[in-house]
Amino acid sequence: MRIDILTLFPEMFFGPFDSSIIKRARDRGILNINLVNIRDFSQNKHRTVDDTPYGGGSGMIIQADPVFRAVESLNEGDAHVIMMCPQGRTFNQSIAMELSRKKHLILICGHYEGIDERVRESLVSDEISIGDYVLTGGELPAMVVVDAVARLIPGVLGEMKSAVEDSFYEGFLDYPSYTKPRVYRDMKVPEVLLSGHHENIRVWRRGESLIRTLVRRPDLLKKAKLTCEDIEILRDVKEKITKILQSKKNT
Ligand code: SAM
Repeated sequence: MRIDILTLFPEMFFGPFDSSIIKRARDRGILNINLVNIRDFSQNKHRTVDDTPYGGGSGMIIQADPVFRAVESLNEGDAHVIMMCPQGRTFNQSIAMELSRKKHLILICGHYEGIDERVRESLVSDEISIGDYVLTGGELPAMVVVDAVARLIPGVLGEMKSAVEDSFYEGFLDYPSYTKPRVYRDMKVPEVLLSGHHENIRVWRRGESLIRTLVRRPDLLKKAKLTCEDIEILRDVKEKITKILQSKKNT
């Protein structure tokens, strides 16, 4: 996948994109990330790209022209052009999946008070927010989007299975994980995980995943596709909880 990121601060990306899984994906050519300085498309000798807002008000606005010219120079016709924007659709795992199927993304990072409205009106095909809060610029949101999208591209993670088992992939939260030692400060790893019995481990993990989702994010469970086994597990949990509540009532 090719990802072009338009920013006034390309250096902000150097650490996150030069480490760990993203670096490996770039080195292996699976991910081609191109940092584009919007200033390179300024047409004045001071390389300025922002100006004061019409109608007055505080802060500076990034001008439409350098952004239009940058996107037009990069888009070969197939790019999905996204503006990072607190007013956009709220990013989640299903948007990450949708974007991971694209061949070419162009992410536009705003800064200061934002970008001239004409960019929104006729240049972008999508606007993405990473949550209901306002950040200084679109750089951190772009990093979040690239990271979440990259790990869904086949070949980026060692095993695609690990992304499939992550929280949200199937609409459920992930099950709890443990590593060595077996006992740490008197806390034990659940017996079933030490049993070597693959089917029992699978069922236990599925159950934990369902229970976690039920307790922490019942909204996700409402939307998720449940198998007959899932319904059985949840019925079992409900019975256990009812029994506990009943015994509490009787004491
Ligand atoms: N005046 C704008 C508004 O209230 O909608 C906010 C401008 S913000 C200070 C500057 C830039 O940061 C935005 O253009 C956008 O690119 C980025 N940004 C800030 N918060 C964001 C968020 N939650 N999600 C995505 N991008 C965000």
